[in-house]
Amino acid sequence: MTVTVRFAPSPTGRIHIGNARTALFNWLFASQNRGRFIQRFDDTDQARSTQAFADGILYDLHWLGIFPDTVEYQSKRTDTYDAAVERLKASGLLYPCYETVEELELKRKIRLSRKLPPVYGREALQLTDEQKAAFEAEGRRPHWRFLLPNFRGNPQETERTDVHWSDLVRGDETVDLASLSDPVLVREDGTYLYTLPSVVDDIDMEITHVIRGDDHVTNTGVQIALFRALGAEPPVFGHHNLLTTSTGEGLSKRTGALSIASLREDGLEPMAVASLATLIGSAEQVTPEPNLAALADKFDPAATSKSSAKFDPADLDTLNKAIVHAMSFEDVAVRLLAMGISGPEAEPFWNAVRGNLTRVTDAARWWQIVRNGPEPTDELSGADRDFAREAFEFLPDEPFDRRTWKHWTDQVKQATGRKGKELFLPLRVALTGLSSGPELAELLPLLGREGTLARRP
Ligand code: GLU
Repeated sequence: MTVTVRFAPSPTGRIHIGNARTALFNWLFASQNRGRFIQRFDDTDQARSTQAFADGILYDLHWLGIFPDTVEYQSKRTDTYDAAVERLKASGLLYPCYETVEELELKRKIRLSRKLPPVYGREALQLTDEQKAAFEAEGRRPHWRFLLPNFRGNPQETERTDVHWSDLVRGDETVDLASLSDPVLVREDGTYLYTLPSVVDDIDMEITHVIRGDDHVTNTGVQIALFRALGAEPPVFGHHNLLTTSTGEGLSKRTGALSIASLREDGLEPMAVASLATLIGSAEQVTPEPNLAALADKFDPAATSKSSAKFDPADLDTLNKAIVHAMSFEDVAVRLLAMGISGPEAEPFWNAVRGNLTRVTDAARWWQIVRNGPEPTDELSGADRDFAREAFEFLPDEPFDRRTWKHWTDQVKQATGRKGKELFLPLRVALTGLSSGPELAELLPLLGREGTLARRP
């Protein structure tokens, strides 16, 4: 059977790095197993879901290097869910309830005061047809609950019913169905909550592995029961730990914090984001991987830790730097062109500066320095200024190449007696306006003799 996974966000905002972690776990698992990846939009909440968010999520996935085999929308599959509902109703596994939110809250409090678990007591199962008709006459509409298989004879007398599965990430897992309320599958207005459409789709789309965040572990107990109620074998499940901010808060699509779009706009490389999103919170070392195929070689769901993982954006910069340093001119030529960096000097320029960049976009600053002159950032003091002025007297003749810098500074050393930092720093500041930056041996040929002389203080 072909391994088939799905990534199933609700399109109610742009995805953040934690959502990307789920997408990547699925994508990498599928690529390790030559499987299929289905992009499924859980958009049954029509009030909050938008096509623009769905398109944005696809864009973010493509940017990360994830290209789904198929894209599905739950909002277009309502008929299929309706058919499943009819089957569940016919077998008595879906029953109508008429309690208001306030009534449910009161029941919960009563159960708690009687030291009973605060789960729904299935009172609606005992409603007569007359009572139901009376509620309907009052204008009440039912919501529908799934009868969990956690009893033998009388549904009011639940007993411990463990559902087991072997989790791809967490190992052996158990959920006791008697500890849960019968879940509401259909709301008063006939719309679906997440649980049923998800299971129906997983069956219809022949999903073999459901990989998602560990906030769904309890849902899995319910969903396994629902798979069986619908006559299907449940897929394999894997629940990865969630990412939190460095202060321990959960990430939210709604706040837009750490969204993939904002990381992209910040100039980060997709592989810096993908490497961190995948490898953080696992026994694997977080390394900057060059592409998703290399990341797939390293990825091991079972190495993921069970506790949540703190995400530090500073780690992204470290990874990004390493990735940018290893990028060839071919890798970035188009992006440089878009930044106005072109011509025969673009390639030697890139090779000269890449080792000093955190982001590719930082190249623009160095291009300005090379083309237009030093930045007015660091000033030379009196003695250093005099020294630098004098040093320019010894500038070698054309042609300028990688050896010119050494040649020049050897001469200056001999003539002035300055060496080390005393010698190099004033020259660096005179040439670039900054006290650190790319190798001057690489920059000098880009400046040429004329360009260098023009920077004489
Ligand atoms: N829409 C659900 C979520 O974003 C999907 C969970 C699942 O993968 O089943 O949490």
